[in-house]
Amino acid sequence: MPDERETGASDRAGRMPCPLCGQTAIHTRADAETLLVRCPWCRTFTIDEQLAASFQEARLTADTSTLEELERLRRAAADAWNRGGRLSIGARNWRELGLG
Ligand SMILES: [Zn+2]
Repeated sequence: MPDERETGASDRAGRMPCPLCGQTAIHTRADAETLLVRCPWCRTFTIDEQLAASFQEARLTADTSTLEELERLRRAAADAWNRGGRLSIGARNWRELGLG
């Protein structure tokens, strides 16, 4: 039933804080464990859902070392998009992505 699937997908789309910068962004589900985020500042990227949750937690607890990494990651995501790509941020690669 394609109609039901579409309804379910749109129910899960919503405005939430961007995991990287905290600004309001559009979140949709890319797959069971991955979010597709459209942010006016970081552009469009995918991120592991649990990693996104840990970034939000870092923001709430003012975890400065993680927040500094997020600042680099935010620029990496925007740069990738501006170059015609799309960053895929996962638990294994996120620290390396921020170093690029
Ligand atoms: Zn953002």
